[in-house]
Amino acid sequence: MSGVPSIRSREIKIVQNIPISKTLKFWEGLKKGKVYATKCVKCGKLHFPPSADCSECLSSEMDWIELSSEAEIETFTHVVVRPASFQQHKPYTVAIGKLKEGVKVLAWLTGFKMSEIRVGMKAKLVAKTTLEGNLTYEFVPL
Ligand SMILES: [Zn+2]
Repeated sequence: MSGVPSIRSREIKIVQNIPISKTLKFWEGLKKGKVYATKCVKCGKLHFPPSADCSECLSSEMDWIELSSEAEIETFTHVVVRPASFQQHKPYTVAIGKLKEGVKVLAWLTGFKMSEIRVGMKAKLVAKTTLEGNLTYEFVPL
C-alpha cells in the first residue's frame, strides 16, 4: 500500500493441502510409474490432468485411462529466472507435448542438451518423484 509506513519484517510460508480423494488413482499411478487421465463416460472427452467432472458435458461419471508415453513436443521454454519455490533447481526446460490420445501435457523436459531440443521431436512421458519427494511426471529422451 502506498502512503502507509511499513517495514519488511518476515516472510510467511504457506502450505496448502489439496484434497485428492477424487484423483487418488492418478497419484497412486504415479507411484507405480503410470500416468493416468480421466475419460468422460458420457461424451468421451479425455481430461489431463485428470478431472473428476467433465468440462464438456458436466458429467461426473469418469473412467481412468493409462496414457501412452510417447509424445511429440509442440513447444518449450527454458526457465532461467526461477520462481521462489524453484530456487533450489538449476535452470530447467518446460514443454508441452501431445500424446497420441490427443491430450497435451505440460511438463519438465529433462535429459536433453539444450541444443537438441526442437519443436516436433519425440519424447517419452514418465512418472517421477522429485528431490523433495513429490510425485510428478516429465518428458525424457525415448
Ligand atoms: Zn463429458
